Amino acid sequence: MKYLFDPVTPSVAIVAQAARFPVNRIYCVGRNYAAHAREMGGSPERESPFFFSKPANAVTDNGVTLPFPSRTQDLHHEVELVVALAGEALAAKGQELSLKEATAAIYGYGVGIDFTRRDLQAEAKEKARPWDTAKGFDNSAPVSALTPAAQAGQIDAASISLLVNGELRQQGMISDLIWNIPELIAELSTYYRLRPGDLIFTGTPAGVSAVRPGDVMEGRIDNLETLKISF
Ligand code: MN
Repeated sequence: MKYLFDPVTPSVAIVAQAARFPVNRIYCVGRNYAAHAREMGGSPERESPFFFSKPANAVTDNGVTLPFPSRTQDLHHEVELVVALAGEALAAKGQELSLKEATAAIYGYGVGIDFTRRDLQAEAKEKARPWDTAKGFDNSAPVSALTPAAQAGQIDAASISLLVNGELRQQGMISDLIWNIPELIAELSTYYRLRPGDLIFTGTPAGVSAVRPGDVMEGRIDNLETLKISF
């Protein structure tokens, strides 16, 4: 095959492997922790979590210093467990997955930050407009190197946290997810035919807050590589 110019091939590192994980699509879950749903003015008892997406090339590597995003006065961090999907069974069947098929589709896990231009998101909500400029901008989806699921221990028992300049801002447990990992993969597969290379940002615990130029963010999940991103 010949291309007019070199195609962009977004990818994420894998712990202790030279091979990289090619990213197909990035799906995100909104309001998948009750405490965060409440801090955003929602009611987790009445509304189910929901999906949105970011472009695949929004991923960035771990350990980088990023240019501060344009067009925002209120950039928020959302630390999230990232689930990476792969496997031959998923390639053969990516739709209407059972919970067992959804579990088999998990390649591994990483720590991600769903950066959000909260001011643009608030405006989009108010005017009933799309969230794309609030969520899907350049470098809005940093992900740590992926740990294969078999080496990640009991991910449901892991804690998740985010520190800014060494100060704890967000803290939660993966077991607090409203839709657990197989449930959200199965649910997502009723909307899309999932493919190897798809990433899912599984939602953020409470404590989202603004970051500024010069800030250093550290996202942690037990047994996974810590994510460190600077502005
Ligand atoms: Mn999020």
